[in-house]
Amino acid sequence: MQLVRQNEEKAAERRKRHTGGRARAVVAVLLIAALGSACAGESGDRGGGDRGGRGGDGGGGGGGPVESASATPGRAGPDAGKKAEAKKAEARKADAAKKADAVKKADAKKAEAAVAKAQALRAVAAKKWKLAKTPLAAPPPPAVKPRITTRKGFEVTGGATLPPVFTNVPTKEKVVFLTIDDGAEKDPELLRMMTELKIPYSAFLSDYVINDNYSYFKKMQARGVSLHNHTLTHPYLPGLSYEKQKREICGQQEKIQKRYGKRPELFRPPYGNYDAGTLRAAKSCGVKAVPLWSSEAFPDHMEWREWDRDLHPGDIVLTHFRGKGEWKGSMPDMIRHVMKTITDKGYAVAKLEDYV
Ligand SMILES: [Zn+2]
Repeated sequence: MQLVRQNEEKAAERRKRHTGGRARAVVAVLLIAALGSACAGESGDRGGGDRGGRGGDGGGGGGGPVESASATPGRAGPDAGKKAEAKKAEARKADAAKKADAVKKADAKKAEAAVAKAQALRAVAAKKWKLAKTPLAAPPPPAVKPRITTRKGFEVTGGATLPPVFTNVPTKEKVVFLTIDDGAEKDPELLRMMTELKIPYSAFLSDYVINDNYSYFKKMQARGVSLHNHTLTHPYLPGLSYEKQKREICGQQEKIQKRYGKRPELFRPPYGNYDAGTLRAAKSCGVKAVPLWSSEAFPDHMEWREWDRDLHPGDIVLTHFRGKGEWKGSMPDMIRHVMKTITDKGYAVAKLEDYV
């Protein structure tokens, strides 16, 4: 019933807009429409805890205000016009809020549909690549990247101004990050597999193992993978002088910039070993952060670094570009194994660069 009335009154509103609107009766009618639409907005809403609820309060709730509003024209005083104006403004506000809410809901629905579609495609790819389960969809990246600090026990003297060293990214989301080191194995299957499965990962490259085939990593980069620094020749850095460390780290910054057009912001010291000089050298040539890892993936097992031998939100998982000659399987075998572990534990793989 109310809906019919509302429609009539909305039509009246439209008519009024065309004729310029003089009569108070029309204003009152508008008022009814406004209250009606505010209430409709409220009942269509989640239940009135938010802005919709406040609009409802103003109107007194339910059908009551509609009755009294239709009575007002009879006792229209001098400030009735002002009141009606105020109500009109309120109605416009409520209407705008309602529209904004509708847009938000539509956007959320669209995003949901996009995720569902991507997951359906991913399920097909998971079957093709013989994954035990379809990888879970990662939540949208954070609007603001979390503040990352050096892990307790990983500090160096004077480290407060140096790039942070960490094994986990602070987040409450059930996501982990996949990082692949060195670059010896250049398996084209890996590129195809990860692209089709849409699993993000980051590469930490050492020049001495990639210099026989830079183009493999160019292809990787073209597929959305960020290439980071893992030194020129993979030495044990704390054993080197500051100058030598700088050459290893900054030399690789230059190489990657020259070959791939982008200077890395992340650096991982070989074996996870570093000292204050390492971090100073890294900072001097543009390194922003030093992600280590909390677990390591192999084709047939995981190696855990945390006491509970488990994954945690924001954990960084390490693995390597290795082939059948170096470990018990291919790169796709390793991915199958690590993805089973990650998915079984209810985690999704997110893009490290979205968080760091
Ligand atoms: Zn390495």
